[in-house]
Amino acid sequence: LVCTPMSKSPSPFLLQYLEIKERHKDALLFFRMGDFYELFFEDAQIAAEALDITLTARGQHSGEPIPMAGVPFHAAEGYLAKLIRSGHCVAVCEQLETPEEAKKRGSKSVVNRDVVRIVTPGTLTEDSLLDARSSNILAAIGVSAGGIEGGIALADVSTGRFEVFETAPEAFGEVLASLAPKELLMSDSVMARPLISNMLESLKTAVTPRPGAKADKVSGERQLKDTLGVKSLDAFGSFSNAELSACALLLDYLHLTQAGETPRLDPPKRHLSSSFMAIDPATRSSLEIDVSAQGSRKGSLLSTIDCTITAPGARRLADNLSRPLIDLVSINCRLDAVSLFVSDRDLREEVRKALRDSADIERARMRLQLGRGGPKDLRALALGLKSGALAARLLRSGIAGLPSLLDEACTVLDLEQQEELAAFAQTLETAIKEDSPVLARDGGFIATGYDPSLDEVRSLRDDSRKIIAGLQADYAEKTGIPSLKIRHNKVLGYFIDVTTRNASAMQNGPHASDFIHRQTLASAMRFTTTELGDLDGRIARAEEEGKAREMEIFNALVLEAENLSSKLRAAADALAAIDVAAGLAQWAEDNRAIRPQLNNSTQFNAVGARHPVVEASLRKAGDGFTANDCCLDASGGDTARLMMITGPNMAGKSTYLRQNALLAIMAQAGCFVPAQKFELGLVDRVFSRVGASDDLSRGRSTFMVEMIETAAILNQAGPKAFVILDEVGRGTATYDGLAIAWAAVEHLHEKNKCRALFATHYHELTDLAEKLSHAGNASLRAKDWQGDLVFLHDVKPGPADRSYGVQVAKLAGMPRDAVKRAEEVLLRLEGEAQKGGFQLDDLPLFAAVAEPAPNLVPSEVEKMLVDVDVDGITPREALEILYAMKQKL
Ligand code: ADP
Repeated sequence: LVCTPMSKSPSPFLLQYLEIKERHKDALLFFRMGDFYELFFEDAQIAAEALDITLTARGQHSGEPIPMAGVPFHAAEGYLAKLIRSGHCVAVCEQLETPEEAKKRGSKSVVNRDVVRIVTPGTLTEDSLLDARSSNILAAIGVSAGGIEGGIALADVSTGRFEVFETAPEAFGEVLASLAPKELLMSDSVMARPLISNMLESLKTAVTPRPGAKADKVSGERQLKDTLGVKSLDAFGSFSNAELSACALLLDYLHLTQAGETPRLDPPKRHLSSSFMAIDPATRSSLEIDVSAQGSRKGSLLSTIDCTITAPGARRLADNLSRPLIDLVSINCRLDAVSLFVSDRDLREEVRKALRDSADIERARMRLQLGRGGPKDLRALALGLKSGALAARLLRSGIAGLPSLLDEACTVLDLEQQEELAAFAQTLETAIKEDSPVLARDGGFIATGYDPSLDEVRSLRDDSRKIIAGLQADYAEKTGIPSLKIRHNKVLGYFIDVTTRNASAMQNGPHASDFIHRQTLASAMRFTTTELGDLDGRIARAEEEGKAREMEIFNALVLEAENLSSKLRAAADALAAIDVAAGLAQWAEDNRAIRPQLNNSTQFNAVGARHPVVEASLRKAGDGFTANDCCLDASGGDTARLMMITGPNMAGKSTYLRQNALLAIMAQAGCFVPAQKFELGLVDRVFSRVGASDDLSRGRSTFMVEMIETAAILNQAGPKAFVILDEVGRGTATYDGLAIAWAAVEHLHEKNKCRALFATHYHELTDLAEKLSHAGNASLRAKDWQGDLVFLHDVKPGPADRSYGVQVAKLAGMPRDAVKRAEEVLLRLEGEAQKGGFQLDDLPLFAAVAEPAPNLVPSEVEKMLVDVDVDGITPREALEILYAMKQKL
């Protein structure tokens, strides 16, 4: 990079750097120089800080020293991982020829370099950069010109997964939260829409804005056809413009980041977002489904129930749990598979044992296809296929009529039925050594006996080595120097090594003319002979030939894997499905969980149910969990659809609310549930508003967050929804809060008419249950025992008798005199209330409020209007929107 202070013009080297950097302004440029990746200018400063490496300077540019930092090439992955985790993208620029080749082109030529790949959070494939047990999803959203239709395209480059969702823009947040992408693409104009920018605030995803032209639906269609290698997309159904636009963004970005090597994705699976239970981002995080409140997987529902053995199984379970189904038949298919493994323990154990020897076929397959795979990945395919075949054999021989999900998996995995896969597995088994290196270029991974020509060069090499070993003794005898050694290094190859003291005996002895001097060191002198030189050459040639032959074999096997790609994919899927079912069965047995009974009613009937996560953490502390029932029905019959839950703080109200919501989610995801009995009429959406915290980064108080979330529930919950609301109104003054909680309960009961649990500390609200025909009261018991409060954690019918706030303060360690004072104040206040404070009857019921009440729910047309960017659309688009609005009326 040197550019002397005297010369004004940059060196050819610097020019090359600047030209490449200009094309990759948004990424840190890893510029390969020999054994290092070097970073320059601002990139160097950023990397030095983020990686804690030394910042130096090299040469000058415009009279200033050029900052530089570097990382060794062989350790680059660790540094890459750190940079990606801290939110950077890295463009990896390699040398495309050797310095010798460059010299041949001209004495002053700079080695040709170019970017071979851009590493971003959503496009990783390296094992060391990925979390084995979670997916690595890149998603893109597309919106139609009028802003009415929406589409989401997603890919996991590490597994080849490719999916497209038809999703209304209003539901983007929900669907994206269920997918948890590592990186999200959208055109900058879409990003500027108020609806989208609001959604982004609640998603914790890295967003990469792309130029609007990249979201072109025509290019989306062309790229889809190219990627899938088809002339027409008809076989995949008709894609909407918004879906095509999302695909355009996604595929173009993959093309860009893989430097033209677009990965072969699987044919896209298409979904309607309405085929899954809807769980909005706030609900998802408050229920800690896949991430705990602390932001880690540990402590989440997913980590608690995950007993899968393989990484693809773990990823599949995470998927199932984040997108529960709403279709009875599919849910029961999953449950049938779990049931089988619950009922046949021996079979389960044998199958799980077989899975232990498998490997991550999905990711190995993709690395091989992207040209980033190695012998270890081929071995992974062999192991996966072998253990899959074993699992299939065990299942088929153990059970006559397998549940459909397992039967299909067995058909894919049974190598007796899959001749091509069987042959490939056999080839791999004989070809690849057990302890294979990660990189093919290191050689030595093809087993002896697989390829005669390779065996021949290897034996040639080994024979020569044997001869060399014999030569050492020969030469020692000839020269009379017993300490003479034949050694090897990269520079000299094989050489004779004697100490300086013995060197003269060698140079002056009778055979002096045989020994050719090569090198003199402080303590040793090195020689060679014609014979040794010949053998050395022969070994080097054999090594080279052997490596070349190994590469040929490797490439042929990779090609074969590529040809079998869809079958390998199916095998990976099948293995994951078996692992998930067996893992859930294991969890069910360990936790006394039962099969939920699902139907199309609006019932919710849980008997003896427990919160899986709280129970697990109590168990660790040696404590037991008190099981509770919950019975609701939204049909309007005798059973209440809305329950008001009261009880002192710390009695277990939140736990009870969440446990019931989790039961519904688990059941519809196809898991057994921790209860004695659970009957559930399918739920289409779960809403939870539990304990919001201040969202100061967004300038919202606790109360504001609480109101936004409550408003969303009251606006959206339909008759098949399941709602839990905890302490609504707590964030404001008593009467305000009570009034809001009151109105929310009435709205839920009268308008939403869904199954709901409403926890509150406003005792005034418990009387409301008597006024509402389908509402009831339940409370968590606590006992005042010799002045101390004891929580029983069990739910009983009827409201709590009192609030015990003062006792809780005492339990929390409030100073004794403050507690005493609080008791006195409480007595006074209670006395005054008796004398005629607040009276429930003072307030008319919600239903009695004079109609027409202002319509709080914006109409479809109003919602559409809000999203229209009047200045940003063409007259034609305006007309389209107008037509669309008319249709909605
Ligand atoms: P609340 O919402 O009423 O303030 P929580 O639901 O937060 O109370 O529960 C407080 C603590 O009580 C929990 O952290 C848990 O340790 C314990 N707990 C709650 N429910 C149960 C239960 N059913 N059995 C045993 N312990 C429970």
